[in-house]
Amino acid sequence: MIRLALHGGAGELALDRTDTREQRSALRRIAERGRQMLQDGAAALDVVEQTVVLLEECPLFNAGIGAVLNRDGQPELDAAIMSGIDRACGAVAGVMRAKSPIRLARAVMERSPHVLFTGAGAEALNRELGLEEVTPDHFITEVRLRQLEDAHARGVITLDHDDAAFGTVGAVARDAEGHLAAATSTGGLTNKQPGRVGDTPIIGAGTFADDRSAAVSCTGTGEAFIRSGFGFEIHARMSYCGWELARACREGLDEVRRLGGRGGCIAIDHEGEIALPFNSAAMFRAWMGADGNIHVAVGPDDAD
Ligand code: ASP
Repeated sequence: MIRLALHGGAGELALDRTDTREQRSALRRIAERGRQMLQDGAAALDVVEQTVVLLEECPLFNAGIGAVLNRDGQPELDAAIMSGIDRACGAVAGVMRAKSPIRLARAVMERSPHVLFTGAGAEALNRELGLEEVTPDHFITEVRLRQLEDAHARGVITLDHDDAAFGTVGAVARDAEGHLAAATSTGGLTNKQPGRVGDTPIIGAGTFADDRSAAVSCTGTGEAFIRSGFGFEIHARMSYCGWELARACREGLDEVRRLGGRGGCIAIDHEGEIALPFNSAAMFRAWMGADGNIHVAVGPDDAD
């Protein structure tokens, strides 16, 4: 039983005043590609990687092209990928020259003995491994420059969707063999201090997968997701307490809120159950459940 879910970030979007048609149709198009791969027998790991590559290339979301900018106007990108088969994983933080942070994370997983690379070292690895390189301006869009100017003027650090410009991306999948995988990619927070790293590339926080429990990809206030150990917490609640996925995710998010954070997650468990909870006003998401159709939603209850 194949399953897929993806997200394009969460935040306090004014749903009644924001036109989300472009984002919805991008999510649908990309989810359809992922579904096709799964139907053709692709491995969950390949599907989540490719889905996130497409989301990174889409300027509407806060990852790759169109990523939000740090205080100094630079993109600093974070990404992670994890296989549920054996907990193999790879992650990168603070890169601005790797064309696809998620592809580099996959290369860290498979072509290095390590799990997490940062900044210049990650970029050197990208080059050594022959992955595509770009200059930082490749990722910078007009929308993000305006968003940063606005954040500078107001003196705030914001979640991408708070400014009606859209978010961190992630994908989780279950393939025909029952294997799970998760991938997440982000530019982090608008106007963040250079060097700040969020939950996305922290295995066990913003990204986690284990075939015995679930695959999870998060979006929201990274610091709170790190402090709650969100991804591993879902695994632990399911494995040690016998909770079902929905309850584990819901209570995990309650803990994030208790720690002062907000956001959401997409998750698929070993039996193909899907949970897509969030405690912000909106979370851009698409999924394929038991009916085989692609559904897209932004607010709490507006699936099509
Ligand atoms: N979780 C990301 C971070 O804190 C931001 C987001 O999801 O929008 O870096």
